[in-house]
Parts: sequence; C-alpha cells; structure tokens
Amino acid sequence: MNRGGGLGPHRTARKRPAGPHQGLPSIGMDMRYASLDLLAPVARTAFAGLDAYLRRETRFRLFETYRDPAAQETAFAARTSKARAFESAHQFGLAADFVPYGTKGWEWPATDHPEWDDLRRAAQSFGLLNGIHWDRPHVEHRAWIGVRALTRSAS
Ligand SMILES: [Zn+2]
Repeated sequence: MNRGGGLGPHRTARKRPAGPHQGLPSIGMDMRYASLDLLAPVARTAFAGLDAYLRRETRFRLFETYRDPAAQETAFAARTSKARAFESAHQFGLAADFVPYGTKGWEWPATDHPEWDDLRRAAQSFGLLNGIHWDRPHVEHRAWIGVRALTRSAS
C-alpha cells in the first residue's frame, strides 16, 4: 500500500517520496496504477466483482493495483510496505488496495477501525484474501500463495 495525497479515485499520477531504487531502472515517472486491466487475468473477475460491489455499497474505492518493482522498493524504504521488489503480490497483478474515499478525498481510518471489517467481509465473499492486520487495504488473490512459494524456492 502507498499513501497518496488528495488525488481522486481515477487520478493516477502521484509524486513519490525520494528514495533509493536499489539500482532498478527508472522510467522517470512516478505513477500509482489503479486499473483493473493491470491485474493478472486469473484475478480480474473476482477483483472486478469486488470493486463493483464496493462502489455500490461502501466508500471503498480502488486505490492501487499493479505496482512496479521500483515503486515497491520506494514503498519498502518509506516503510509503507514490508516487501521488497518482486516480493509483493502487486508486482504479479495479484493484489489490489481499497481505501475509503470521502468528501475530503482518501481517508485512512486507524487499522482497528470497524470500517475495514466491511472490506474484509466483502473480499471474502468474492473468494479474495484480506487478512494482514497492519495492512488493511490490501486484498490478495489466492493464486499469490502458490506464486510466492515458487518465487521463494527458485534460485
Ligand atoms: Zn497492497
């Protein structure tokens, strides 16, 4: 998850904090991607269903889907993520973050706020996982369990 500024739910340009990119190539643009089209095909149907439900019934809106490896390193350095490049489901199109969007823009309730439980119940009803207690916006597809195991066993 990355914490953004006051951009609307469909705006994707965002200035990232300066940080080390661990030698990864940079395309010189700071972007937050929030398109369902950037999710892996295996995950797209479930996430599209969840997104539609959340738009209809809640304040949750799609905040971020695919995250490029350099952005992941920046998030790690800024301690908004505990994963490094290629250690997050976001690099594989298997995760999306949903955040409440109110009249003043994006809102970040405390991690123990009950509004997050609405996201968890909704994600589970679409067969998705939302179980990281310190990263409440983060929703993963179950395919990530296998992909993660493969990436950790490969040498
Ligand atoms: Zn996430």
